[in-house]
Amino acid sequence: MIGGGAAGMLAALFAARNGARVTLLEKNEKLGKKVYITGKGRCNCTNLCDVQAFLQEVPRNPRFLYSALKLLDPEAFLALLNSLGCETKVERGRRAFPASDHASDVTKALENGLRRCGVRIRFHAEADQLLIRDSRIEGVCLKSGETLAAERVIVCTGGLSYPSTGSTGDGYRWAEEAGLAVTPRAPSLAGLETKEPWPAQLQGLTLKNICLTARSCGKIIYSQLGEMLFTHYGVSGPLAIECSAHLPGQRNAELSLDLKPALTEDQLRQRLDRELAAAGKKQLATVMQTLLPVRFAALFPSLIGADGKTPCSQVNGKTRQALVRAFKALPLTVTGTRDYSEAIVTRGGVDVKELNAATMESKKIAGLYFAGEVIDVDAHTGGYNLQIAWSTGALAGQSAS
Ligand SMILES: Cc1cc2nc3c(=O)[nH]c(=O)nc-3n(C[C@H](O)[C@H](O)[C@H](O)COP(=O)(O)OP(=O)(O)OC[C@H]3O[C@@H](n4cnc5c(N)ncnc54)[C@H](O)[C@@H]3O)c2cc1C
Repeated sequence: MIGGGAAGMLAALFAARNGARVTLLEKNEKLGKKVYITGKGRCNCTNLCDVQAFLQEVPRNPRFLYSALKLLDPEAFLALLNSLGCETKVERGRRAFPASDHASDVTKALENGLRRCGVRIRFHAEADQLLIRDSRIEGVCLKSGETLAAERVIVCTGGLSYPSTGSTGDGYRWAEEAGLAVTPRAPSLAGLETKEPWPAQLQGLTLKNICLTARSCGKIIYSQLGEMLFTHYGVSGPLAIECSAHLPGQRNAELSLDLKPALTEDQLRQRLDRELAAAGKKQLATVMQTLLPVRFAALFPSLIGADGKTPCSQVNGKTRQALVRAFKALPLTVTGTRDYSEAIVTRGGVDVKELNAATMESKKIAGLYFAGEVIDVDAHTGGYNLQIAWSTGALAGQSAS
C-alpha cells in the first residue's frame, strides 16, 4: 500500500481483515495529514445520503463508483468508524463528522484498527518507483534505495492539492510510466479568479441567497442558489467553489449573479421605483442599502456606470432599467481558479477506463491497483470526496487480498 491517507488507510484495513500481509508506506511522519485539515479540522468524513443522491454530487465518472459504494457506502463507513471507537454525528445537509469535532479522532480510530489487524505501518517511507515486469507488479523501490517485493501494490498517493500534506502527484507519474492513460489535472473546488477588479473592493463580504450561473460558449454549465464570498482575486465561498468543479478545460467562464432570485425583473423594477420615489433627494447609493449590504450598495451604481451621488429623484428610466439588469444578471468573467495550494481536490487523474471498476485493478498491469484522489473521479464538497477515498480504498484492499 503506498500512501497513508484516507484511501490508503481503508485499503490496508480491508486487505488485512481479509487475511493479507500488509505493509503501508507513508512518506510523512504520521498517517492522514490531509484528513487532519479536512472540514476545517472537523473532518466532514462522509455524507449520509443514498447512492443515487451521492452520484449526483460527482461531476465526473460517477458510474465508476457503483461497486466501491456497494462495498462501503456512507452508512457502512460510519458504522465502521463507530466500531473502531470513533463516535459520529450528522449535521445539516446530511454531513457527517466525528462527534468530538476533531478530525484527528477519525485517523486515530483507523490507525488503531490497522494496528489491531497487524498492518505494518512504515513512516518516512517514500516510494519512488514501481517495479513492473512482463505486465505484472513485482514490488516498490523506495527513495532510500530499499526494494520491497510485493505481489500486489495499491497506489493511494492522492492528488496535487495542498502538497504540504504529502500529496505531490507521484501516483500520476507511476501510472504514466506504466503506460496507463492519465487525464489532464487541474485544481478543483477552488476560488474563481475574475477579470474584473471590482470584487477586490468587496473583499470579505458574503452574499447569501443569491443565484450563481456559469456559462461556457453560451451553454449553462452550472446554476445554483446559495452563498458567495468576494475576495481579493475574485469570488469564493460555497457557490464559487462548487462552480469550479464544472469549469471547462481552459478554466474560463462567464458568470452571472442574480442578487434577487426571489423577485422577477418586473417585481424588482416596481420595488426599485417605490424605494426611489420614497427617497426623494437622498443619494442613489444610500437607497441601494435597502436592497444590498452597505459596502456593496456604495459600489453598485458604479458597476452600471451611474454616479452613486445622484439624487434619487433624478434617476432616469434608462438607469433604473440598467440597475434592474445588474441585480438580476451581474456579469463577471472567470479567468481561472486558484492554484493547488488552495484547491480542495485535484480534478483528472488515472483514467477510469484503465481500471476495472469492480476491483480498482489496472487492466494492463496485473496486481497494480489505484484508489482515492489519484483516480479521475472528484466530487462536490459535503463529505463526498473523502467517501470516494474510503470506498475505492476499501474495494482495492478487499480485491487485492
Ligand atoms: C483543506 C481541505 C479540506 C478538505 N475537506 C474535506 C472534507 O471536509 N470532506 C471531504 O470529503 N473531503 C475533503 N477534502 C478532500 C479530501 O481530503 C481528499 O479528497 C482525500 O483526502 C483524498 O484521499 P487520498 O487518500 O486519495 O489522498 P490523501 O489523503 O492526500 O493521501 C495521500 C497520502 O499519500 C502519501 N504519499 C504521497 N506520495 C507518496 C509516496 N511517494 N510514498 C509514500 N507516501 C506517499 C501522502 O503523504 C498522503 O498521506 C479536503 C481537502 C482539503 C485540501
